[in-house]
Amino acid sequence: MSIYRLLFICVATLIITVAFGAEPASPTPRETRAPTKEAKVTFNAVHVDGPYIAMTFDDGPSATLTPKLLDILAAHHIKVTFFVLGENVTEHPEIVARAAREGHEIASHSWSHPNFAKMSLESVRSQLQRTDDAINNATGKRPTLFRPPYGSITEREKHWIHDEFGYDVILWDVDPLDWKRPGPAIVRSRILKETRPGSIVLSHDIHPGTIEAMPSTLDQLEAKGFKFVTVSELLAMASPVTPYPKAEAVGKTAAKAAPPAVPGSSPGD
Ligand SMILES: [Zn+2]
Repeated sequence: MSIYRLLFICVATLIITVAFGAEPASPTPRETRAPTKEAKVTFNAVHVDGPYIAMTFDDGPSATLTPKLLDILAAHHIKVTFFVLGENVTEHPEIVARAAREGHEIASHSWSHPNFAKMSLESVRSQLQRTDDAINNATGKRPTLFRPPYGSITEREKHWIHDEFGYDVILWDVDPLDWKRPGPAIVRSRILKETRPGSIVLSHDIHPGTIEAMPSTLDQLEAKGFKFVTVSELLAMASPVTPYPKAEAVGKTAAKAAPPAVPGSSPGD
């Protein structure tokens, strides 16, 4: 008797498993799930109730320019986010330590600035782990944000990186194209024109013109009423977007850079 009963239970369990277990594997829920997850992992800007913005500086630290920038930021009492390269962190850990000590956020921009969209997950892991360790060694704290070089990253990598390292993937909505070295006045005018509440402003602390542009740029942003926070602080301020989904709030420049991979399509980030 017990054998038949056991058999019945097994068959019933199998039927239930097939009936209910099949559903998540069907294509429809996968398609609807992806955009929801996408909105949570990647940010070009943040919808906030207030005049908050995040200034970000990539590719450093630079031995000469980053300390100058830190002086300017200290004079303005402004906190920013540095997306550093691991190989530069190991060369100048004291500069990164100073930035962290002065309240700035230190985030990962990879070890050596490769194009992630063309790499194996093993290479991606190595780039991120070495940078994570270098930042931790310099500051005693691991990063929680990652910005892909060139803004180039596949959908699969975004979610893998988020799952594996816990990073949010940060792009931008304001791009002054300072890597083309257009001169401080142009860098300033582009930032002032494009920045709005919730903006994430991209620039680089490895170009002299960018550093030269900063005192007046920061003055004028302050005069417009903007308040400066780190990217993590900006993310924490996110308020629900109505009536559009988050993707609609994405800025045009970063949206252009976000699709995987035309190398050099946005060489500056
Ligand atoms: Zn970069």
